[in-house]
Amino acid sequence: MSEAATSPRPRIAAVIVAAGKGLRAGGGLAKQWRKIGDKTIAQHTVDAFDTHPSVDLIQLVVAEDSDPAHWPMAARGQMQITTGGATRAASVLAGLAALAGKADLVLIHDVARPGIPHHVIDAVIAALATQQGAAPALPVTDALWRGDDLVTGTVDRAGLWRAQTPQGFHLHAILAAHGTYQGDAADDVAVARAAGIEVAIVPGDPANMKVTSPGDFARAAQILEKGQMDIRTGNGFDVHAFGPGDHVMLCGVAIPHERGLLGHSDADVGLHTVTDAIYGALAAGDIGTHFPPSDPQWKGAESHIFLTHAVDMAAGQGFTITHADLTLICEEPKIGPHAAAMRARLAALLRIEIDRISVKATTTEKLGFTGRKEGIAALATVTLVRP
Ligand code: MG
Repeated sequence: MSEAATSPRPRIAAVIVAAGKGLRAGGGLAKQWRKIGDKTIAQHTVDAFDTHPSVDLIQLVVAEDSDPAHWPMAARGQMQITTGGATRAASVLAGLAALAGKADLVLIHDVARPGIPHHVIDAVIAALATQQGAAPALPVTDALWRGDDLVTGTVDRAGLWRAQTPQGFHLHAILAAHGTYQGDAADDVAVARAAGIEVAIVPGDPANMKVTSPGDFARAAQILEKGQMDIRTGNGFDVHAFGPGDHVMLCGVAIPHERGLLGHSDADVGLHTVTDAIYGALAAGDIGTHFPPSDPQWKGAESHIFLTHAVDMAAGQGFTITHADLTLICEEPKIGPHAAAMRARLAALLRIEIDRISVKATTTEKLGFTGRKEGIAALATVTLVRP
Protein backbone atom coordinates (compact mmCIF):
# COMPACT_ATOMS: atom_id res chain seq x y z
CA MET A 1 0.00 0.00 0.00
CA SER A 2 3.01 2.30 -0.54
CA GLU A 3 1.05 4.05 -3.29
CA ALA A 4 -1.40 5.40 -0.74
CA ALA A 5 0.86 8.33 -0.01
CA THR A 6 1.07 9.46 -3.61
CA SER A 7 -2.24 8.47 -5.25
CA PRO A 8 -5.48 10.11 -4.13
CA ARG A 9 -8.02 7.97 -2.34
CA PRO A 10 -10.30 6.31 -4.93
CA ARG A 11 -13.82 7.66 -5.17
CA ILE A 12 -16.19 4.87 -4.18
CA ALA A 13 -19.80 4.58 -5.29
CA ALA A 14 -22.43 2.02 -4.29
CA VAL A 15 -24.86 0.95 -6.98
CA ILE A 16 -28.03 -0.27 -5.31
CA VAL A 17 -30.31 -2.09 -7.70
CA ALA A 18 -33.93 -1.62 -6.68
CA ALA A 19 -35.65 -2.04 -10.04
CA GLY A 20 -37.01 -5.57 -9.49
CA LYS A 21 -40.63 -6.47 -8.97
CA GLY A 22 -39.77 -8.56 -5.88
CA LEU A 23 -43.21 -10.13 -5.65
CA ARG A 24 -42.06 -13.55 -4.41
CA ALA A 25 -41.89 -12.02 -0.94
CA GLY A 26 -45.67 -11.51 -0.97
CA GLY A 27 -47.51 -8.43 0.20
CA GLY A 28 -48.39 -7.12 -3.27
CA LEU A 29 -45.73 -4.39 -3.15
CA ALA A 30 -42.20 -4.89 -4.46
CA LYS A 31 -40.25 -6.16 -1.46
CA GLN A 32 -37.74 -3.30 -1.46
CA TRP A 33 -40.57 -0.88 -0.63
CA ARG A 34 -41.94 -2.98 2.23
CA LYS A 35 -41.07 -2.09 5.78
CA ILE A 36 -39.02 -3.96 8.34
CA GLY A 37 -39.45 -2.10 11.62
CA ASP A 38 -39.97 1.56 10.83
CA LYS A 39 -38.04 1.68 7.54
CA THR A 40 -38.37 0.13 4.10
CA ILE A 41 -35.89 -2.53 3.06
CA ALA A 42 -34.49 -0.06 0.52
CA GLN A 43 -33.99 2.56 3.24
CA HIS A 44 -32.17 0.06 5.51
CA THR A 45 -29.90 -0.83 2.59
CA VAL A 46 -29.22 2.79 1.61
CA ASP A 47 -28.50 3.63 5.25
CA ALA A 48 -25.87 0.87 5.46
CA PHE A 49 -23.88 2.48 2.66
CA ASP A 50 -24.76 6.06 3.58
CA THR A 51 -23.25 5.54 7.03
CA HIS A 52 -20.10 3.83 5.70
CA PRO A 53 -17.21 6.30 5.89
CA SER A 54 -15.57 5.15 2.62
CA VAL A 55 -18.65 5.35 0.39
CA ASP A 56 -18.80 8.73 -1.37
CA LEU A 57 -21.85 8.37 -3.56
CA ILE A 58 -24.92 6.14 -3.76
CA GLN A 59 -26.41 5.35 -7.13
CA LEU A 60 -29.94 3.99 -6.74
CA VAL A 61 -31.54 2.27 -9.73
CA VAL A 62 -35.33 2.08 -9.74
CA ALA A 63 -37.92 0.77 -12.20
CA GLU A 64 -39.37 3.29 -14.64
CA ASP A 65 -42.83 2.92 -13.14
CA SER A 66 -41.76 3.01 -9.49
CA ASP A 67 -43.47 5.48 -7.18
CA PRO A 68 -41.09 8.21 -5.95
CA ALA A 69 -43.01 8.22 -2.68
CA HIS A 70 -41.33 4.87 -1.91
CA TRP A 71 -37.78 5.96 -2.69
CA PRO A 72 -35.29 5.99 0.17
CA MET A 73 -33.25 9.03 1.11
CA ALA A 74 -29.58 9.46 1.96
CA ALA A 75 -29.46 11.51 5.14
CA ARG A 76 -25.69 11.97 5.26
CA GLY A 77 -24.10 11.71 1.86
CA GLN A 78 -24.93 12.04 -1.79
CA MET A 79 -27.38 9.88 -3.69
CA GLN A 80 -28.49 9.98 -7.30
CA ILE A 81 -31.39 8.04 -8.77
CA THR A 82 -31.67 6.58 -12.23
CA THR A 83 -34.24 4.35 -13.91
CA GLY A 84 -33.27 0.83 -14.86
CA GLY A 85 -34.03 -1.53 -17.71
CA ALA A 86 -36.00 -4.69 -18.36
CA THR A 87 -33.39 -7.01 -16.84
CA ARG A 88 -31.15 -6.83 -13.80
CA ALA A 89 -28.09 -6.49 -16.06
CA ALA A 90 -29.71 -3.60 -17.93
CA SER A 91 -30.48 -1.88 -14.63
CA VAL A 92 -26.91 -2.30 -13.40
CA LEU A 93 -25.60 -0.92 -16.69
CA ALA A 94 -27.86 2.14 -16.33
CA GLY A 95 -26.52 2.71 -12.83
CA LEU A 96 -22.88 2.30 -13.90
CA ALA A 97 -23.35 4.62 -16.87
CA ALA A 98 -24.78 7.30 -14.57
CA LEU A 99 -21.58 7.13 -12.49
CA ALA A 100 -19.17 7.78 -15.36
CA GLY A 101 -16.60 10.35 -14.25
CA LYS A 102 -17.90 10.35 -10.68
CA ALA A 103 -16.36 7.20 -9.21
CA ASP A 104 -13.30 4.99 -9.49
CA LEU A 105 -14.59 1.90 -7.67
CA VAL A 106 -18.16 0.61 -7.62
CA LEU A 107 -19.87 -1.72 -5.18
CA ILE A 108 -22.91 -3.28 -6.82
CA HIS A 109 -25.42 -4.39 -4.21
CA ASP A 110 -28.81 -6.07 -4.13
CA VAL A 111 -31.36 -3.81 -2.46
CA ALA A 112 -32.85 -6.92 -0.81
CA ARG A 113 -29.79 -7.40 1.42
CA PRO A 114 -30.55 -4.78 4.07
CA GLY A 115 -28.43 -6.42 6.79
CA ILE A 116 -25.11 -5.75 4.97
CA PRO A 117 -22.51 -5.25 7.73
CA HIS A 118 -19.84 -2.58 7.32
CA HIS A 119 -17.07 -5.14 7.74
CA VAL A 120 -18.18 -6.89 4.54
CA ILE A 121 -18.11 -3.57 2.65
CA ASP A 122 -14.64 -2.95 4.17
CA ALA A 123 -13.38 -6.33 2.96
CA VAL A 124 -14.56 -5.74 -0.61
CA ILE A 125 -13.00 -2.25 -0.71
CA ALA A 126 -9.74 -3.52 0.78
CA ALA A 127 -9.48 -6.32 -1.78
CA LEU A 128 -9.97 -3.87 -4.65
CA ALA A 129 -6.65 -2.24 -3.75
CA THR A 130 -4.94 -5.24 -5.34
CA GLN A 131 -7.67 -7.11 -7.22
CA GLN A 132 -9.70 -6.44 -10.38
CA GLY A 133 -12.87 -7.53 -8.67
CA ALA A 134 -13.95 -8.73 -5.22
CA ALA A 135 -17.16 -10.15 -3.84
CA PRO A 136 -18.29 -11.65 -0.52
CA ALA A 137 -19.40 -15.25 -0.20
CA LEU A 138 -20.02 -17.91 2.41
CA PRO A 139 -18.76 -21.47 2.06
CA VAL A 140 -21.49 -24.04 1.53
CA THR A 141 -21.84 -26.01 4.76
CA ASP A 142 -24.91 -28.15 4.03
CA ALA A 143 -24.62 -31.40 2.14
CA LEU A 144 -25.72 -30.95 -1.48
CA TRP A 145 -27.92 -33.38 -3.36
CA ARG A 146 -29.02 -33.82 -6.88
CA GLY A 147 -32.49 -35.25 -7.39
CA ASP A 148 -36.17 -34.82 -8.04
CA ASP A 149 -38.51 -36.79 -5.74
CA LEU A 150 -35.65 -39.09 -4.90
CA VAL A 151 -32.04 -38.29 -4.25
CA THR A 152 -30.15 -39.34 -7.36
CA GLY A 153 -26.73 -38.20 -6.33
CA THR A 154 -24.64 -36.09 -4.01
CA VAL A 155 -22.47 -33.12 -4.89
CA ASP A 156 -19.11 -32.48 -3.29
CA ARG A 157 -19.43 -29.12 -1.55
CA ALA A 158 -15.69 -28.50 -1.37
CA GLY A 159 -14.93 -25.30 -3.25
CA LEU A 160 -18.58 -24.24 -3.48
CA TRP A 161 -19.70 -20.81 -2.24
CA ARG A 162 -22.92 -18.93 -1.65
CA ALA A 163 -22.50 -15.59 -3.40
CA GLN A 164 -23.45 -12.31 -1.74
CA THR A 165 -23.15 -8.66 -2.63
CA PRO A 166 -21.77 -5.97 -2.82
CA GLN A 167 -19.67 -7.10 -5.74
CA GLY A 168 -16.89 -4.59 -6.21
CA PHE A 169 -15.05 -3.56 -9.38
CA HIS A 170 -13.14 -0.76 -11.01
CA LEU A 171 -15.84 1.31 -12.68
CA HIS A 172 -14.29 1.54 -16.16
CA ALA A 173 -13.73 -2.23 -16.34
CA ILE A 174 -17.17 -3.35 -15.17
CA LEU A 175 -18.88 -0.67 -17.29
CA ALA A 176 -17.09 -2.02 -20.36
CA ALA A 177 -17.94 -5.60 -19.35
CA HIS A 178 -21.63 -4.80 -18.98
CA GLY A 179 -21.59 -2.89 -22.28
CA THR A 180 -20.59 -5.98 -24.22
CA TYR A 181 -22.38 -8.68 -22.19
CA GLN A 182 -25.20 -10.46 -23.99
CA GLY A 183 -28.29 -11.71 -22.15
CA ASP A 184 -29.12 -11.57 -18.45
CA ALA A 185 -26.54 -12.66 -15.89
CA ALA A 186 -27.08 -14.20 -12.45
CA ASP A 187 -24.87 -11.52 -10.97
CA ASP A 188 -22.12 -9.05 -11.79
CA VAL A 189 -19.39 -11.57 -11.09
CA ALA A 190 -20.69 -13.58 -14.06
CA VAL A 191 -20.56 -10.45 -16.24
CA ALA A 192 -17.08 -9.60 -15.01
CA ARG A 193 -15.68 -13.06 -15.56
CA ALA A 194 -17.12 -13.19 -19.08
CA ALA A 195 -14.96 -10.12 -19.77
CA GLY A 196 -11.87 -11.72 -18.22
CA ILE A 197 -12.00 -9.79 -14.94
CA GLU A 198 -10.68 -11.84 -12.03
CA VAL A 199 -12.83 -11.74 -8.89
CA ALA A 200 -11.44 -12.41 -5.42
CA ILE A 201 -13.65 -14.01 -2.78
CA VAL A 202 -13.83 -12.16 0.55
CA PRO A 203 -15.66 -13.32 3.67
CA GLY A 204 -19.41 -12.76 3.59
CA ASP A 205 -21.68 -12.66 6.61
CA PRO A 206 -24.90 -14.56 7.40
CA ALA A 207 -26.45 -11.20 8.38
CA ASN A 208 -26.10 -10.19 4.75
CA MET A 209 -29.02 -12.44 3.84
CA LYS A 210 -31.25 -11.78 0.85
CA VAL A 211 -34.91 -11.16 1.65
CA THR A 212 -36.72 -13.33 -0.87
CA SER A 213 -39.68 -15.19 0.62
CA PRO A 214 -42.29 -14.04 3.18
CA GLY A 215 -40.53 -15.91 6.00
CA ASP A 216 -37.33 -13.92 5.43
CA PHE A 217 -38.88 -10.73 6.80
CA ALA A 218 -38.88 -11.96 10.40
CA ARG A 219 -35.25 -13.10 10.16
CA ALA A 220 -34.19 -9.83 8.58
CA ALA A 221 -36.04 -7.94 11.32
CA GLN A 222 -34.07 -9.87 13.96
CA ILE A 223 -30.81 -8.98 12.24
CA LEU A 224 -31.70 -5.31 11.74
CA GLU A 225 -33.06 -4.76 15.20
CA LYS A 226 -30.19 -6.55 16.96
CA GLY A 227 -28.73 -4.33 19.64
CA GLN A 228 -31.80 -2.14 19.72
CA MET A 229 -33.53 -3.81 22.65
CA ASP A 230 -36.76 -2.05 23.56
CA ILE A 231 -37.33 -2.05 27.33
CA ARG A 232 -40.50 -0.48 28.67
CA THR A 233 -41.93 0.07 32.10
CA GLY A 234 -45.65 0.55 32.61
CA ASN A 235 -47.59 1.50 35.69
CA GLY A 236 -51.19 0.95 36.69
CA PHE A 237 -53.47 2.28 39.41
CA ASP A 238 -57.05 1.33 40.22
CA VAL A 239 -59.58 1.64 43.02
CA HIS A 240 -62.80 -0.27 43.71
CA ALA A 241 -65.25 0.53 46.52
CA PHE A 242 -66.66 -2.07 48.88
CA GLY A 243 -70.34 -2.97 48.49
CA PRO A 244 -72.63 -5.83 49.38
CA GLY A 245 -71.18 -9.31 49.01
CA ASP A 246 -69.42 -12.19 50.72
CA HIS A 247 -66.05 -12.24 48.90
CA VAL A 248 -63.64 -10.10 46.89
CA MET A 249 -61.80 -11.16 43.73
CA LEU A 250 -58.12 -10.25 43.91
CA CYS A 251 -55.77 -11.46 41.16
CA GLY A 252 -58.27 -14.10 40.17
CA VAL A 253 -58.48 -15.50 43.71
CA ALA A 254 -61.83 -15.40 45.56
CA ILE A 255 -61.18 -14.22 49.13
CA PRO A 256 -64.01 -14.61 51.61
CA HIS A 257 -64.94 -11.24 53.09
CA GLU A 258 -68.00 -9.67 54.67
CA ARG A 259 -68.25 -7.29 51.73
CA GLY A 260 -67.61 -7.46 47.97
CA LEU A 261 -66.14 -4.94 45.55
CA LEU A 262 -68.35 -2.82 43.32
CA GLY A 263 -67.62 -2.72 39.61
CA HIS A 264 -68.96 -3.30 36.15
CA SER A 265 -66.92 -6.50 35.80
CA ASP A 266 -65.95 -8.81 38.68
CA ALA A 267 -64.15 -5.74 40.14
CA ASP A 268 -60.80 -7.55 40.45
CA VAL A 269 -58.75 -4.49 41.31
CA GLY A 270 -55.50 -6.51 41.23
CA LEU A 271 -55.92 -7.81 37.70
CA HIS A 272 -57.21 -4.44 36.46
CA THR A 273 -54.11 -2.71 37.75
CA VAL A 274 -51.67 -5.15 36.19
CA THR A 275 -53.65 -5.02 32.93
CA ASP A 276 -53.46 -1.23 32.84
CA ALA A 277 -49.71 -1.36 33.53
CA ILE A 278 -49.22 -3.54 30.43
CA TYR A 279 -51.41 -1.27 28.30
CA GLY A 280 -49.39 1.63 29.68
CA ALA A 281 -46.08 0.08 28.63
CA LEU A 282 -47.51 -0.43 25.14
CA ALA A 283 -48.95 3.11 25.10
CA ALA A 284 -52.23 1.43 24.25
CA GLY A 285 -54.71 3.22 26.48
CA ASP A 286 -56.34 1.41 29.40
CA ILE A 287 -58.95 -1.24 30.11
CA GLY A 288 -61.75 1.23 29.37
CA THR A 289 -60.29 1.80 25.88
CA HIS A 290 -60.53 -1.87 24.99
CA PHE A 291 -63.50 -2.94 27.14
CA PRO A 292 -65.82 0.09 27.43
CA PRO A 293 -67.94 0.02 30.63
CA SER A 294 -70.83 1.16 28.41
CA ASP A 295 -70.73 -2.21 26.64
CA PRO A 296 -73.12 -4.60 28.43
CA GLN A 297 -71.15 -7.69 27.30
CA TRP A 298 -68.48 -6.93 29.96
CA LYS A 299 -71.01 -6.75 32.81
CA GLY A 300 -69.84 -9.19 35.47
CA ALA A 301 -66.97 -10.30 33.20
CA GLU A 302 -64.10 -12.22 34.76
CA SER A 303 -61.15 -9.87 34.68
CA HIS A 304 -58.67 -12.42 33.37
CA ILE A 305 -60.25 -11.69 29.98
CA PHE A 306 -58.85 -8.15 30.16
CA LEU A 307 -55.42 -9.25 31.29
CA THR A 308 -55.20 -11.94 28.61
CA HIS A 309 -56.05 -9.32 25.99
CA ALA A 310 -53.18 -7.10 27.18
CA VAL A 311 -50.74 -10.04 27.37
CA ASP A 312 -51.67 -11.12 23.84
CA MET A 313 -51.25 -7.56 22.60
CA ALA A 314 -47.75 -7.38 24.12
CA ALA A 315 -46.80 -10.75 22.63
CA GLY A 316 -48.20 -9.69 19.26
CA GLN A 317 -45.82 -6.74 19.26
CA GLY A 318 -42.89 -8.98 20.10
CA PHE A 319 -42.65 -8.07 23.79
CA THR A 320 -41.88 -10.43 26.64
CA ILE A 321 -43.21 -9.48 30.08
CA THR A 322 -40.23 -9.83 32.39
CA HIS A 323 -41.87 -9.05 35.73
CA ALA A 324 -44.87 -7.59 37.50
CA ASP A 325 -44.92 -5.94 40.91
CA LEU A 326 -48.34 -5.34 42.46
CA THR A 327 -49.15 -3.55 45.70
CA LEU A 328 -52.64 -3.88 47.16
CA ILE A 329 -53.62 -1.07 49.53
CA CYS A 330 -56.32 -1.86 52.09
CA GLU A 331 -56.99 -2.42 55.80
CA GLU A 332 -58.90 -5.60 55.05
CA PRO A 333 -59.16 -8.37 53.99
CA LYS A 334 -55.73 -9.67 55.01
CA ILE A 335 -53.73 -10.26 51.80
CA GLY A 336 -50.77 -12.23 53.21
CA PRO A 337 -52.47 -15.63 53.46
CA HIS A 338 -53.58 -15.38 49.80
CA ALA A 339 -50.49 -13.80 48.24
CA ALA A 340 -48.98 -17.09 47.06
CA ALA A 341 -52.21 -18.09 45.29
CA MET A 342 -52.41 -14.64 43.68
CA ARG A 343 -48.81 -14.87 42.45
CA ALA A 344 -49.47 -18.32 40.98
CA ARG A 345 -52.57 -17.07 39.16
CA LEU A 346 -50.75 -14.00 37.84
CA ALA A 347 -47.81 -16.15 36.69
CA ALA A 348 -50.21 -18.34 34.71
CA LEU A 349 -52.00 -15.36 33.15
CA LEU A 350 -48.77 -13.50 32.33
CA ARG A 351 -47.14 -16.76 31.13
CA ILE A 352 -43.98 -16.14 33.16
CA GLU A 353 -42.26 -17.79 36.12
CA ILE A 354 -43.70 -17.13 39.56
CA ASP A 355 -40.39 -15.71 40.78
CA ARG A 356 -40.96 -12.79 38.41
CA ILE A 357 -44.25 -11.89 40.11
CA SER A 358 -44.53 -9.86 43.29
CA VAL A 359 -47.76 -9.35 45.21
CA LYS A 360 -47.48 -7.29 48.36
CA ALA A 361 -49.90 -5.39 50.55
CA THR A 362 -49.90 -2.32 52.69
CA THR A 363 -52.33 -0.23 54.66
CA THR A 364 -52.53 3.54 54.78
CA GLU A 365 -52.40 3.61 58.59
CA LYS A 366 -56.16 4.12 58.79
CA LEU A 367 -55.84 7.33 56.76
CA GLY A 368 -57.95 8.17 53.73
CA PHE A 369 -60.57 6.06 51.98
CA THR A 370 -58.60 2.84 52.28
CA GLY A 371 -57.96 3.64 55.93
CA ARG A 372 -61.70 4.07 56.45
CA LYS A 373 -62.21 0.66 54.81
CA GLU A 374 -64.24 2.14 51.96
CA GLY A 375 -62.44 0.20 49.27
CA ILE A 376 -59.21 -1.28 47.91
CA ALA A 377 -56.60 0.54 45.85
CA ALA A 378 -53.81 -1.08 43.84
CA LEU A 379 -50.57 -0.03 42.17
CA ALA A 380 -48.61 -2.09 39.65
CA THR A 381 -45.38 -1.86 37.70
CA VAL A 382 -44.54 -4.18 34.81
CA THR A 383 -41.52 -4.37 32.53
CA LEU A 384 -41.77 -5.44 28.90
CA VAL A 385 -38.75 -6.30 26.77
CA ARG A 386 -38.52 -6.67 23.02
CA PRO A 387 -35.13 -8.13 22.04
MG1 MG B 1 -61.03 -1.36 37.76
